[in-house]
Amino acid sequence: MNPSTDHSPMATDNQPAPPSSSPEEVVVVEDLAKYFGERCAVDSISFRIRPGECVGFLGPNGAGKSTTIKILLGLIRRSEGTIRLLGDEVPRHYQRVIEKIGVVAQDDNLDPDLSVAENLLTYADYFSIPKARARQKTEELLHFFALENRRQEIIENLSGGQRRRLLLARALINEPKLLILDEPTVGLDPQARHLIWERLTILLDQGTTMLLTSHYMDEVARLSNRVLILDRGRIVAQGAPEQLITDLVGLEVFEVDGTDQELDRLTEMFSQCNASLERLRDKLYIYTREDCSRLEHLLGDRRSWLRRPANLEDLFIQLTGRSLRES
Ligand code: ADP
Repeated sequence: MNPSTDHSPMATDNQPAPPSSSPEEVVVVEDLAKYFGERCAVDSISFRIRPGECVGFLGPNGAGKSTTIKILLGLIRRSEGTIRLLGDEVPRHYQRVIEKIGVVAQDDNLDPDLSVAENLLTYADYFSIPKARARQKTEELLHFFALENRRQEIIENLSGGQRRRLLLARALINEPKLLILDEPTVGLDPQARHLIWERLTILLDQGTTMLLTSHYMDEVARLSNRVLILDRGRIVAQGAPEQLITDLVGLEVFEVDGTDQELDRLTEMFSQCNASLERLRDKLYIYTREDCSRLEHLLGDRRSWLRRPANLEDLFIQLTGRSLRES
């Protein structure tokens, strides 16, 4: 195997390897649209993913994330647009592409009749991986995902975190050049989430390209070097998270609690500053674009206010609003 294309987690004994040097973009989507009858679920979106990037795909419910991913995976047909995955046009060359992709869907579709190791070996069979290589790869992945002591266990006896790690291991059995992760840590406790983040970070350091959807902003901020924010089928922002936050939200945020009268007074005072204000019932959010000492001075010794750096959640709320999207 060419070491420069080896994405095996164990290939470097957990040491970061140089990112893939392929000049080819891994994902190129141009003017992609999807209609369900009259309803436009994806509205002419374009984006690219370069080798070694982790792109966080964000959006409220109904934004079009799942539809886009299902189209990328060949599960539903696009209405318009073009897609190239790993250099091949899909759906035309899908068979060629599917072998180079790993997917961790939200559904836990592990085979309950098989043991942990058998789940990996059976999956290796789908890709016609030679038996000896499949066994070696299975051992590497069990070790990498801290499942080696559960090798003979039946799926039913695994914890939620172990099942999710096994799903990740299974997605890596074919040494994919693109890993698509749909909410990889949803429903897990903090320890289980941290273990998965740690392993995903090693994979990223080794050059694995990832497309990650998640509702956890801390997860996306931690793993992604670029985010795509989708709303009502359209991309409303894309770029490096820190840059987008600085450009579109500001530097720091003051959250101030108070009565209507108090917040009215503060709104008046802060309207003179280089900051944007958002007023909720008993809370005022002040997104600052300047050094904050002056603002702190204006707040004086009021009881309840909090000063913190602007973050991805602020950006998300700013772009997609606060109203619930329940359908
Ligand atoms: P997200 O994954 O961001 O929550 P989806 O891609 O699931 O969003 O949905 C985007 C829009 O497409 C929503 O309005 C949803 O109701 C609609 N939609 C998704 N799948 C179907 C379908 N099979 N038939 C009709 N409408 C659908």
